[in-house]
Amino acid sequence: MRLSRYFLPVLKETPAEAQIVSHRYMLRAGMIKQASAGIYSWLPLGFKVLKNIENIVHEEQQRAGHIPMLMPTLQSADLWRESGRYDDYGQEMLRITDRHDRDMLYGPTNEELITDIFRSYVKSYKDLPLTLYHVQWKFRDEIRPRFGVMRGREFYMKDGYNFDLTKEDALHAYNRHLVSYLRTYERMGLQAIPMRADGGPIGGDYTHEFLVLAETGESEVFYDSEITDLKFGSREIDYDSVEQCQAVLEEFTSRYARTDETHDEAVFAQVPDDRRRTARGIEVGQIFYFGTKYSEAMGANVQGPDGKPVPVHMGSHGIGVSRLLGAIIEASHDDKGIIWPEGVTPFHCGIVNLKQGDEAADAACEALYASLAAMGLEPLYDDTNERAGGKFATMDLIGLPWRITVGPRGLKNGVVELTCRRTGNSEELSPEAALEKVGRIYGKVQA
Ligand code: ATP
Ligand code: MG
Repeated sequence: MRLSRYFLPVLKETPAEAQIVSHRYMLRAGMIKQASAGIYSWLPLGFKVLKNIENIVHEEQQRAGHIPMLMPTLQSADLWRESGRYDDYGQEMLRITDRHDRDMLYGPTNEELITDIFRSYVKSYKDLPLTLYHVQWKFRDEIRPRFGVMRGREFYMKDGYNFDLTKEDALHAYNRHLVSYLRTYERMGLQAIPMRADGGPIGGDYTHEFLVLAETGESEVFYDSEITDLKFGSREIDYDSVEQCQAVLEEFTSRYARTDETHDEAVFAQVPDDRRRTARGIEVGQIFYFGTKYSEAMGANVQGPDGKPVPVHMGSHGIGVSRLLGAIIEASHDDKGIIWPEGVTPFHCGIVNLKQGDEAADAACEALYASLAAMGLEPLYDDTNERAGGKFATMDLIGLPWRITVGPRGLKNGVVELTCRRTGNSEELSPEAALEKVGRIYGKVQA
């Protein structure tokens, strides 16, 4: 993309309404614009990152064997009356009446809809296990929408639902989700710690929230510092293997890590003093096994091996796709702007032309641009007539992990400058060497 032809409405001033850094930078970098309280338009740069995050979620869900689909945002109230949640949900649910006076709602979650789909088609235990998911907009009329996309009213969420014959099978689905979530967040450059959460009115120990540690997080968390040394890394895992998924769950959940809802001082006190941590965290996902709550209420039975109908065991599993943009920025920024992890960056590499209109500089930039594109990378070329300082400030603000700077003086010596956004380190390299290095970082050139 050439900046002269893009739509990147960066702001010079810090917007007064933004209280936390991710919200400030998302507004300043022209990623989002508030449409009304807690509701945002996703401008091109923000939309790109949102899609990158969504793609990682899709890839990791499908790697785990989960099946993508799409359910509508608007739902009929009838299904929610069946489950008993129409009245329970209260004011967080946006209720709408259509022209025929039918009660509708903008879905805050999809257990009812998916259970209805399931019961319409699946009749035998032989069709299990089954996990369906979608990534779709949700609406919750939050009492206090704030922090930009972190606590919106309209927000983008991946929600998945598993259907299993037995509790044991459903717990395997739970473990499988935990593993797939660890991979998902790590690919986004995030450490999200699974913490024991509150099962709410349903009770039980089978729910974990994934939290990214950040001072601006809304949850208070308590954990054993050893947990932050754990990495899932690039290990291979067979998602069908009960033992393998169980082993990962045990590895990542055996140390103390809880939100304030489940925190227990007496148990926490057993963690050695020097490893006991209290901090704040951003909830970026939650997994949940809830047994037969919805299947019983809504008659989602299958014929079991003995021919008798049994209600299926279910769980639901959510990832806050739009909230993740905020969480990633909270975890990765400096005083100049965002620092995108390579896995989610909107453009792989920036190109800054120090002297637009200089024949050699223009030609070198064009050549770099074409070569990066030929490798399958997306560069953002600042081909505007802005002065150098302004170009650097914009690149730093929007946070591309790598930048190639091209100027007539360097070119006379056969070099351009390659700069790492995270460290600020620059090196002078031939254009070919710079391309090779960027290609290698993104796995496009073999080491
Ligand atoms: P919270 O406790 O933050 O209100 P929740 O536990 O009600 O969230 P879930 O139903 O578990 O949310 O939804 C799954 C994920 O969706 C959450 O982990 C979070 O990342 C995201 N999410 C929930 N509410 C919002 C919101 N208002 N704005 C943006 N993302 C949200
Ligand atoms: Mg939650």
